[in-house]
Amino acid sequence: MRFTERTRHLAPEGAYHVLAKASRMEAAGKEIIHFEIGQPDYETFSNVSLAGIRAIIEGKTRYTDPAGILPLREAIAEDVSRRRGIEVHPEEVVVSPGGKPTLFFPTLALVEPGDEVIYPNPGFPTYEAMIGVAGGIPIPVPLLEENNFSFDLEAFDRLINKKTKLIILNSPSNPTGGVIPRHDLEHIAAKAQEFDCWVMSDEIYARIVYDGIQAFSIASLPGMRKRTIIVDGFSKTYSMTGWRLGFGIMPRELAERVSLLLTHSLGSTAHFTQYAGIEAIRGPQDSVEGMIREYEQRRDVIVAGLNELPGFRCRKPQGAFYVFPNIKETGMSSDDLADLILEKAGVALLPGSCFGCYGEGYLRLSYATSIATIKEGLARIGSVL
Ligand code: PMP
Repeated sequence: MRFTERTRHLAPEGAYHVLAKASRMEAAGKEIIHFEIGQPDYETFSNVSLAGIRAIIEGKTRYTDPAGILPLREAIAEDVSRRRGIEVHPEEVVVSPGGKPTLFFPTLALVEPGDEVIYPNPGFPTYEAMIGVAGGIPIPVPLLEENNFSFDLEAFDRLINKKTKLIILNSPSNPTGGVIPRHDLEHIAAKAQEFDCWVMSDEIYARIVYDGIQAFSIASLPGMRKRTIIVDGFSKTYSMTGWRLGFGIMPRELAERVSLLLTHSLGSTAHFTQYAGIEAIRGPQDSVEGMIREYEQRRDVIVAGLNELPGFRCRKPQGAFYVFPNIKETGMSSDDLADLILEKAGVALLPGSCFGCYGEGYLRLSYATSIATIKEGLARIGSVL
C-alpha cells in the first residue's frame, strides 16, 4: 500500500516493541522483569475509581462539550492556577482523552508545512510524529547530561531562527527524568519572544518531583502565557493511564480551534472519566503524595545500584519515574546492550536510541515497580555484564 507523505514517518513507540518481545518470551515460560513501561504500577486510587463507577450508574454516559464538562474545566483551572502561580480561566482549558491529543492538535493548528519545530532529543517519540504529520520540519536539540539533561543552550541558540514556529519542552522529562532549571527556561522564554514562537510545555510529570523541589512552568514567566500551551494530564499523577484523561491550557482563541479539531476527530472525552477526574483533583491528595515519596525511595535504590554496574554511570534525576544511565563505557550500542540484557538476563528496558539519535549511549529504565523487583533486576543485569 502507498501511504501519504504525512504518515510515512510514523513508527511504533519503542516501548511497545520491547514489551511485545518480552511478552513473547513470557509466553514461552521465561520470567521477565519489566523496566520498559512508562506507567505507574499503582492501581487508580479507589476514591477516583468509585467516582467513575458512580458516574456511570448515574448515567454520565453521554457525549459532552468537546472541550470537556465545565465542572472539570473549573477544577483544572483552579488547580493549575494554584500550582503554577498563574491565572487560568476555564475557557483556556481543553480536556481530551489523554495528554497526547493536546500535544497533537495545537501542533496541527499552529504549524504550517515548512515551519520549523524545535524539540528535545532524546525525547518523547510523539513529538517527532506530530511535527511530521503537521508537515513541520523537525529540529532536534540535544539534551546535556551534565546540565540535568536540559537543552544544550548553545545548540538551541544556533538552531532557533525566524522560521521556528514552535519550541517543545518537557520537564520533568521522559526519558531522562531531568528537570529544566529556571534560568534555562528564562533563556528559552527570551528567545521565544525575540523570534515570536509558540512554546509547548509538556508538564505531564510536573507533580512527580523529588528532593523538595517544585517544577517551574515557563508559562509563569512574564509575557509567556499568550504564547504557551501547557500539556498535562491524569495518567501519571493519578495513575489513570487507561482512563484516558488529559488537558491543555492555552490562549482562548487557540483553545477554540483545538476544540474544533476534537469535535471532528474524537468528539469528546468519555463522560464518566471526566467525573473521575473531578474527584482526582478535588479529593484527598495523600495517595498521590505517598506514591511520589515511594518513587523517590525507588529512585535512590535504582541510581545507587546502576552506579555499581561496570560501564554504567547514572545521574540522580529530580523528576518523573525514569533513569537514563550512560552506558558508553560498556563499548556496546544501546540497542545491542538492551537486547543482550533482555535475552540473557530476562530484564526488559529501552535503548536510548528509541528516543532519538542523541539518546544513543544510554538506556531508559522506568522504576515504577517495587524495590524488590528493582533489586532483582539490577542483580540480573550485573551478572550478565
Ligand atoms: N508526554 C510525555 C512526556 C509522556 O511520557 C506521556 C506518556 N507516556 C504523555 C505525554 C502522554 O500521556 P497520556 O496521553 O496518557 O496523558
